[in-house]
Amino acid sequence: MPAKVNEESCTGCEACVGACPTEAIVMKEGKAFVTDECIDCGACVDECPVEAITME
Ligand code: SF4
Ligand code: SF4
Repeated sequence: MPAKVNEESCTGCEACVGACPTEAIVMKEGKAFVTDECIDCGACVDECPVEAITME
């Protein structure tokens, strides 16, 4: 299942954006958002300093 960002936890640091191999994460109004390009690799999860990303 794709990655999901908890918007309440996300600080908008953009660390996850560069970690994604498919550029599936975009910033929307200061929060990270995972698009349909996600291939479920999980790379972004460990990259987030506030553990805002989970695999659903
Ligand atoms: S799980 Fe992988 S492909 Fe999906 S958003 Fe995270 S880094 Fe990108
Ligand atoms: S790494 Fe975490 S806190 Fe930073 S933009 Fe991505 S989801 Fe938000």
